[in-house]
Order: sequence, then C-alpha cells, then structure tokens
Amino acid sequence: MDHSFQDIERIPFRAGEAPAGGVHPAGLNAEELIHDFSAALKGGQFKVFFQPKFDLRQSEPVLSGAEALVRWHHPRFGLIGPAQFIRTFEENGLIRSLDTFVLDSAAWQIRDWKDRLGVAVPVSVNLSGADLFDPAFADRLIKTVGSSGIDRSELVLEIPEKVYSRDPGLTAAKVGDLRSYGFTVEVDDFLSGGSSMWMLSEMPADALKLDMRFVRSAFGERVDTRLIEAAARLAASFETPFVVKGAETAEQAAILKMIGCDQIQGYFFSKPVPASEFDRFLVEKKAAACEPPKKHRESFSYRALHDKLTGLYNNCAFDLLVSEVGSEHTALLIAEVAGFDGIRRDMGREYADELIVQAADYLRQNFRSVDYLFRLGEDRFAIIMGRVRANGKKAVVEKIRMICEELRDGAAGDMSVYLRAGIAFSDDYETEADICHDAETALEAQKKLGVTGCSVFGG
Ligand code: C2E
Ligand code: MG
Repeated sequence: MDHSFQDIERIPFRAGEAPAGGVHPAGLNAEELIHDFSAALKGGQFKVFFQPKFDLRQSEPVLSGAEALVRWHHPRFGLIGPAQFIRTFEENGLIRSLDTFVLDSAAWQIRDWKDRLGVAVPVSVNLSGADLFDPAFADRLIKTVGSSGIDRSELVLEIPEKVYSRDPGLTAAKVGDLRSYGFTVEVDDFLSGGSSMWMLSEMPADALKLDMRFVRSAFGERVDTRLIEAAARLAASFETPFVVKGAETAEQAAILKMIGCDQIQGYFFSKPVPASEFDRFLVEKKAAACEPPKKHRESFSYRALHDKLTGLYNNCAFDLLVSEVGSEHTALLIAEVAGFDGIRRDMGREYADELIVQAADYLRQNFRSVDYLFRLGEDRFAIIMGRVRANGKKAVVEKIRMICEELRDGAAGDMSVYLRAGIAFSDDYETEADICHDAETALEAQKKLGVTGCSVFGG
C-alpha cells in the first residue's frame, strides 16, 4: 500500500476516538498492531513528523514551536496515523515505549536544528497518563535532555485535559514537579470536557491548547466564534497563553488572531511534515531575525485590537480582517454620525463620547453576534457581515435603514444619532473588487442625500 503523508491527514478520527481493541475503522486489527509493535520500534518503522506553531501576538506570525506527531510506516498497512494505534497502545501500556521514542527523537531533532541551522525551536510531545504517572518518567526525561544537550525548556510536554480530570490532585503534583525541573507543560485538548471550572482553574500549565472541535464547529456552515472567544477570555483570566489548533484558511487564522488567540497551529501554515521539510520554517525564521526590526511592531493583544471607548474592534482589527475575510457572501457597511464635529464643538467632548457609546451599543444590539463591529475613527463605524445570502440582502438593507431611523428618533435613549451608512456586497462583483472603496462610495452617495439612512453600492 502506498500512501503519502498527506493521506493520513484525511483520516477523519482522532486518537481518542478510535474504538478500543478489535478492528479499527480503517480495518486495522489491534492484536496485529500490538504483535508488530516491538519489531516496528526496533526496525525504525515509527517516524516523527513536525507541525509548526505560530505566535500571533506580533504584526507578522512568528514561528514559536513545533508539535511532534508520530506516524507508522507499516510494512503491510502502509503509512498509518496515530489515530489508528495510540488508543490501543495506551490501553496496554506500550505507549510508554512509543512516547519515549518520540521524546528522544524530538530532543535529538532540536539538537540537530541548533547545530545545523543555528535555530532553537521548542518542540512539544504528546504524553499519555501512563507516561506521567510512571515513577521513572521524570528521570528518563532528564536523562534524554541531558544526553542530547538541549535546554529543558525546549522540550514541551503536552498533557491532555482528560489526564488532569481523571486525577486532578496527582496530575497537578506531577506537572508541578516537571515544571519545577524546568520543563514546559501545556494542557492539550483544553475544554474537551470532564473538567469542572474549579479543576480548570487549578491546572498548572504554561499554555492551554484548545480542543480542535471548537474550531471545527466555529467555522462550519456559518461562522460563529463565540465559544472560542469565551475560551480565550477564560485563558486570559488564568493569565495563561492560549493556543488554537486546526486553523485551515487565512480567514480562520485572521479571525482567531483578532479574537485573542496567542498561537495557532494548523493546515493553513502547514500539515505535519518530516524533519527535513521542517527545515524551511527555521531557515525563514533565521532570515526574518536578520531583517531590521519593523517600525510599528505591536502586540496584538486585546487592547491593541479594541476601541477603548466602545469596546468594539478598532481600525487595527479592521485592517487585519478586511483583507482576509472570504469574499463570498460578505457585506461591508461603513457608517458615520452626521454633523459629529459640530456636536462635539457645541456640546463638548463628554456629550460626544456618550453619543458614540450610545450608537455603538445600539449597533451591537441590532447586529448578529457573528457580524464584526468596528469603530474606525471618532464617529466612523464599520460592520463586516458574513454569509449574507443574495435573498437576504434586501432584509439587511431594510434593517439598517430601520436602525438609522430609530437612532434618529432617539429610540436608543434621550439622544438622537443621525447615522449615514453605505453598504457593498461582495458577491455583486464579477472580478476582485475593492469592497472598502465601494462601501465608501455608497456612504458618499448617502451623505449627498443629506438625510439619515443607508445607500447600497451599485443599487
Ligand atoms: P493532537 O495532539 O491534537 O495533535 C494535533 C492533530 O491535529 C494532529 O493529528 C494534526 O495533524 C491535526 N491537525 C493539525 N492542524 C490541523 C488542521 O488544520 N486541520 C485538521 N483537520 N487537522 C489538523 P495526528 O497527527 O493525526 O494526531 C492525532 C492525535 O494523536 C494527536 O492529537 C495526539 O493526541 C495523538 N498523538 C500523535 N502523536 C502522538 C505521540 O507521539 N504520543 C501520544 N501519546 N499521542 C500522540
Ligand atoms: Mg497535541
């Protein structure tokens, strides 16, 4: 059987999901796998692949590490992925030998990259409960690191949340020991279930890596990232870096960055690849480090992406997202408060600020949670609406007109806000067009009319 490594990425189930024992979904027999294990380990049939992780907190994504993921070149079954054998090996204890092999390979690989390319990159290895609770584990780890001559902090240990939830006290103690020896520990599959809020808050960890199902469901039929945003806030409240795996497109990566994910790993950047192919990420990182520092390198923290007054996303977030959102069925609305300069001059800054907060609150209440609301400048707002179907356009425009009228009539409180808006729909274009320019053009048309309301570009 001849498989490329890409083929196994398509296997649609994960390690924990494979049925215990018996025949696996792809027809692999657990007993055969167990029987073949020892010879396979000795014969070099297991290979470690590496998938890059990128830090998003700077203006450009920066390579921050790699995850070691094992594959098996089986003489009869071809290249098989971990989802097909990890569970079986976890059940009968063979996982400890396999994980020891992966830990060794990762440590020596870090050393090789340092020697050959002069770049140090932390590599994370997936552990099972059997590893962590093995009394000899920490000593083995220290020896591995010692003989390969790497720094302890360079070997990152990923411990699945389910291990924590099985025995929170003992896990916390073991993890605490490993961290006190200088190892970095990440909780893998964060929020996959089984842990109470109290348990989560007690988990000692250097990073929280969200269960991939969150990303799958957030970017399904419709985009709804509320759960990931809540998870990001939870991680932030624990003051622990938040890592998301499974980003497959530029749009997903941009949205994840915008909602506060610190690091991402996913097919968008790369699938897991053999060590030799991973070299290129290190070469690129080294080259980038030699470039003069970029002038406005800023942190993409919550503060950097949100407007202080209204809590809406700011123009930095807008620049980030507008170039990445899928052009299909997207609408962009740009709105301004009419006569704002005069209001500020006559009524004062405090009144003007209150009016902006009022307008922002009202927009927030009237748009869907899946729409992205921005304050671009003093009195300018933008809204990116995803998944606007052709038959829903009329309703969108009608809704905006209504919002403008209600704001004018002071429905949002005592103040009347005269909002003028222009909207453009991306799927009206035959070729790549500039949706920002068109929304601005529509806004200018509405301004010329001199009344509150919304104009549609091209209509
Ligand atoms: P994991 O720790 O959650 O590792 C990430 C998995 O997500 C990898 O699957 C990776 O290929 C996949 N992935 C990453 N980005 C994307 C993406 O954008 N889209 C999709 N669809 N998938 C993505 P892989 O390599 O099949 O590993 C599956 C699981 O097997 C791992 O999940 C981990 O739990 C386990 N595993 C892998 N290697 C080892 C190992 O050496 N030891 C142990 N104990 N478990 C391992
Ligand atoms: Mg992992």
